[in-house]
Amino acid sequence: MYEVTCATCATQVLVEKFSPVHTSIQWTTDARTACPEFARHIAEGRDPDRIPGCEALRASIDDQVRRGRVPTDSLRREPTPGQFD
Ligand SMILES: [Zn+2]
Repeated sequence: MYEVTCATCATQVLVEKFSPVHTSIQWTTDARTACPEFARHIAEGRDPDRIPGCEALRASIDDQVRRGRVPTDSLRREPTPGQFD
């Protein structure tokens, strides 16, 4: 998993892409309150695992992908707590 910070609300998430079109986002507990859009979805009763996050976060993720910081073909593996590579 790769750490990406939202440029707007500073929410930190872990991102992994198994293909250019697939994006897996792992929210931290803090993100659920830090991102206003995420908090709104939660308030509406949505499944946290299916919330794509705020627009700015998606833009931030795309930006990191463009910079090559998040590979789009990473092999599926379990995240290691406390370690981002
Ligand atoms: Zn955000």
